Amino acid sequence: MKITSLRAYQVDLPYVGGTYFWGKGNAIRVAPTTVIVVETDAGIIGCGESCPIGGNYLAAYPEGVVPALAQLAPAVMGQDPRHIHRIERLMDNALMGHPYAKTAIDAACWDILGQECGLPVSVLLGGVLTDGGPMYRVVPQKSPEEVNREMAEHRAAGYRQFQIKVGNDWKGDIDRIHAAAAILEPGESAFADANRGWTVREAVQVVREVRDTGVMIEQPCPSYEECLHVRSRCDLPMKLDECITDLKMAGRLVADQAAEVVCLKISNLGGLTKARRVRDFLVEHGLSVVCEDTWGGEITTAAVSHFAASCPESYLYNTTDLHNYNTASTGGPPPEVRDGKLFASTQPGLGVTPLASALGEPLAEYRAS
Ligand SMILES: [Mg+2]
Repeated sequence: MKITSLRAYQVDLPYVGGTYFWGKGNAIRVAPTTVIVVETDAGIIGCGESCPIGGNYLAAYPEGVVPALAQLAPAVMGQDPRHIHRIERLMDNALMGHPYAKTAIDAACWDILGQECGLPVSVLLGGVLTDGGPMYRVVPQKSPEEVNREMAEHRAAGYRQFQIKVGNDWKGDIDRIHAAAAILEPGESAFADANRGWTVREAVQVVREVRDTGVMIEQPCPSYEECLHVRSRCDLPMKLDECITDLKMAGRLVADQAAEVVCLKISNLGGLTKARRVRDFLVEHGLSVVCEDTWGGEITTAAVSHFAASCPESYLYNTTDLHNYNTASTGGPPPEVRDGKLFASTQPGLGVTPLASALGEPLAEYRAS
């Protein structure tokens, strides 16, 4: 089997709640996402999606996926997409870094492999170890009253884990965390995600003031080293996210005992192939993980659902239904969401097809010569 063409499309995903506020005063209303469609000479078509949330969340930007294809597409054109690790090496050899640009091609290859085998990607990743991953819901930065109102809405929709966005006004964040912790019901949990928004000095004061809440602290500061400093002053459980970009960082985290939970975003790691490797390493070292991605529509959520389903249940902290944060779609059907849990499709491959009416004309197209 050979890759014969690769096309890239852009779809704008408006946030379902209007404006999405996160750390350091950042906000988005619309997230442009890139859908990649890979065709083969066997007639099997695979898809993937990459959606960096704006240009300053990670070392990634939404408009960066298409230009990167000028480097990546010639490297994979004519190659057999079923040889996933070979495709991974060809992409890494053609372009250093840019994991978010590689993630959609990687997903499309898994999708093609699954369709050819007649098996869902979760089985190819090792099998279904979690039949229905518990989901969290983000509560963006707002007043404590609004945070509490949103939590009640999400509770009614079945969510039992809440991510409270903080990291802008550290004194207000202390009130926000106390307010969220106070309304938790039995069986529920909350964690406070600063998205790198606090200085070490601010974070140390926050964790001291909220130590009695039991609320987990997520990525308080920009760098891994700053987070380690906060960790040394913090009695609360710690979760690291943005700074865990590869297996080497995961190795440092394990050696330093830097966190109890590690958030793994598929596109921050360069695709399902690398994310699975990092996930399995962390699980082998006894750490809990979040299986998710930065943002995206149904195609991203499909990849997330297989990633989460193939994680041992006792180590899967949670996952998320990214497509339910948008008022637009990239594909269908979406993975099933039921009772606050995300279920991977049992159809071959990713189990999702790009939505032709949403894609429009391709922004870029490459064909085998
Ligand atoms: Mg986070």
